[in-house]
Amino acid sequence: MSDFDFDLFVIGAGSGGVRAARFSAGFGARVAVAEERYLGGTCVNVGCIPKKLLVYASHFAEDFHVAQQGFGWSLGETRFDWKTFIKNKDGEIQRLNGIYQGLLDNTGVQHIQGHARIVDAHSVEVAGQRYTAKNILIATGSWPNMPDIPGIEHAISSNEAFHLEEQPQRILIVGGGYIAVEFACILNGLGSEVIQLYRGPLFLRGFDDDVRAHLAEEIRKRDIDLRFDLNVVSIEKTDSEFCATLTDGSQLSADQILFATGRVPLTENLGLENAGVKLNDKGAIAVDETSRSNVPNIYAIGDVTDRMNLTPVAIHEGVCLANTLFNNTPMNPVHSNVPAAVFSQPPIGTVGLTEAQAREEFGAVDIYRSSFRSLRNTLTDSQEKTFMKLIVDKKSDRVVGLHMVGPEAGEIVQGFAVAIKCGATKKDFDSTLGIHPTSAEEFVTLREPG
Ligand code: NDP
Repeated sequence: MSDFDFDLFVIGAGSGGVRAARFSAGFGARVAVAEERYLGGTCVNVGCIPKKLLVYASHFAEDFHVAQQGFGWSLGETRFDWKTFIKNKDGEIQRLNGIYQGLLDNTGVQHIQGHARIVDAHSVEVAGQRYTAKNILIATGSWPNMPDIPGIEHAISSNEAFHLEEQPQRILIVGGGYIAVEFACILNGLGSEVIQLYRGPLFLRGFDDDVRAHLAEEIRKRDIDLRFDLNVVSIEKTDSEFCATLTDGSQLSADQILFATGRVPLTENLGLENAGVKLNDKGAIAVDETSRSNVPNIYAIGDVTDRMNLTPVAIHEGVCLANTLFNNTPMNPVHSNVPAAVFSQPPIGTVGLTEAQAREEFGAVDIYRSSFRSLRNTLTDSQEKTFMKLIVDKKSDRVVGLHMVGPEAGEIVQGFAVAIKCGATKKDFDSTLGIHPTSAEEFVTLREPG
């Protein structure tokens, strides 16, 4: 028996922290997890899960339209009630919080409620109580970044967007990343007037350029007022609305202003200095390829390390660490070929390299593209186009990037991600038969590079 209270003390019960705690306990470790807010972290409470429920809610408007216009349905009056949705969504999240509690209980992980502060390399204090641990894992996640401009206190972040009392009829969304794009599409689908501002020439920096341009076009077809090369410099509140002054001197009014301008690692007041844990130049906990900080028994996973800020990545990092520490199976997390989706409307699905990255890494690449109107839309006036792109390393024939903008892109790309991970070649794609009629079959029938 060790002299410590626990073999592993996890700070933060989000996706990564809980997975690391459960797996470690499953391998026989004595584990505690401290959480000051909500079980399940950002993903369950103010992230992926409520966001996806909102995406479903928002999509019905288009489904009703398509049903009536093209498929012979007659519908009565349709109306969306924000309050009912929020109540149902909150109920589901409460259920999930309970499930997380159950998962911890069932694996014998001790859940400690409160803010945890590191006292030294082997001790943590929560609510005046001190605990000792052989290893400490920091999995505190991240928090919305709100730029320091006059009147920013009048704006909301995604945290508040999930709890608004009323649906904003006019909303100004600032930012050009995942969250800004997703909320712009959600609120547009629910009938709000949406203006989205991005400070650069084309949003979704980091995604494939064709994907970025295609989505911008599709979003504009849906009457989202998407404006580039613009930012907000200040915000004023009047009796009934908020007024933003922009970099070009113009002004915009809205019922709400949402800033989705990135997230910052949550490292404040963790007592890192007491153990000498170092941050990197982005303010994230600096870790090596095993998720170990500069202090040998202190580790960090998930958004607080700002490596790749996605729930499944945090979970993967947690599983690797538990195996390394307590299952005698050292595993380092892999951050390449991670599939991802942006739940815009239409959504993006992507795995592997962008064209620019592939050209840099391989030099000679073949690019296969396709843009088409899906079968479902042919009976309607929808001008929406699905876009698909394959990037192939000429030398090895390996498909090194696969991208899609179109209905169910996340579902489709998840499957192809296995093939990419296995090193599938273009020849393998060509010899795979399609499922007809689907959109996904286009990925295995792309013949001419262009
Ligand atoms: P992102 O990092 O994706 O995007 C932030 C956006 O805000 C960028 O367009 C950035 O511009 C812009 N920005 C940053 N600072 C400012 C500023 N001061 N003024 C104006 N614009 C600014 O962050 P998000 O907030 O959208 O999401 C956070 C993270 O959460 C994402 O990185 C993603 O990993 C994760 N997430 C994943 C989802 C999914 O998997 N579907 C969904 C939602 C979030 P620029 O590009 O010029 O820097």
